[in-house]
Amino acid sequence: MTGYDIIIVGGGTAGLTAAIYARRAGKTVLVLEAVGFGGQITSSPLVENYPGLPAVSGSDYAAALTAQAKALGAETKFGQVTGVQREGDHFLLTAGRKTFEARALILCTGARHRKLGLDREEALVGQGVSYCAVCDGAFFKDKAVAVVGGGDSALQSALFLSDLAREVTLIHRRQEFRGQEAYVRAIGQRGNIHLALECQVTQLQGEPALTGVTLTDKAGAQRQLPLEGLFVEVGQEPDNGAFAALAELDQGGYFLAGEDCRTRTPGVFVAGDCRAKELRQLTTAAADGSVAATAACRWLDGQ
Ligand code: NAP
Repeated sequence: MTGYDIIIVGGGTAGLTAAIYARRAGKTVLVLEAVGFGGQITSSPLVENYPGLPAVSGSDYAAALTAQAKALGAETKFGQVTGVQREGDHFLLTAGRKTFEARALILCTGARHRKLGLDREEALVGQGVSYCAVCDGAFFKDKAVAVVGGGDSALQSALFLSDLAREVTLIHRRQEFRGQEAYVRAIGQRGNIHLALECQVTQLQGEPALTGVTLTDKAGAQRQLPLEGLFVEVGQEPDNGAFAALAELDQGGYFLAGEDCRTRTPGVFVAGDCRAKELRQLTTAAADGSVAATAACRWLDGQ
């Protein structure tokens, strides 16, 4: 079993930034990632609010960040961490059949797509229901699709899909959008994006593939919306249960740690979207990654 100074759990923006800082501080680093290096931003068509990068695709940004961390000597491996325990002055992490050892941990587990929780939602994934417009949008060229949600992800997805699909219905449960005003304005200028506000998707139709949804408005009135694609962009939720013994979680399951990214367990730090915070952006993920890595390096040097 190889031991590392620091194991970083999660290879998104926070984790890879932490890897860059820790490697530059001379620590040995392993980044363990369950799904894909680069994290959530890889499914963002265009990032326009990262300082110094006026317009970059999420996948290009993620590829450059991953390459930067690797070039500095960070080791990267795929693996879903299912267990962690403390043994003396180090931590043992279990991922699949493998065990990894480190003196410090930085947990950058991010967040996963929230589901609508409707009947047959799971069964219709890949049959019309999707959680990623960039990944699956091309399947819906010239078709009718809808996007659910009112945050940046939903607005961005609606704009992205409007270039491909025949028409896009943006379904949001409130009148006001949570996402950026610039996206709301752009949506208003697209002739093929229709708004369905103050209503929710309450049923999915179609067997085996999606053919439409039932929309229910605030007053309880229902209507059918025929469509072939439904893109669910209703935010994220964390997946931190495996680490609950090391770091406190809030009611939503996010790690409770301050801006210093320290947890109640010496040697365990948290960074990025998995941490309870006000603003989840690339900038705040990168900031957390650098803070957590610097704190972890100082902590190791003090041992
Ligand atoms: P979000 O900001 O949390 O928005 C989630 C949206 O889904 C909200 O409008 C919410 O409605 C709605 N919603 C939640 N649960 C729902 C349900 N069960 N049924 C129907 N609607 C539901 O999530 P996000 O858009 O994925 O963004 C997450 C973070 O990433 C944010 O900080 C965002 O700014 C950031 N982000 C940034 C960019 C960028 O370009 N800078 C792009 C993507 C994401 P309510 O509004 O009523 O709560």
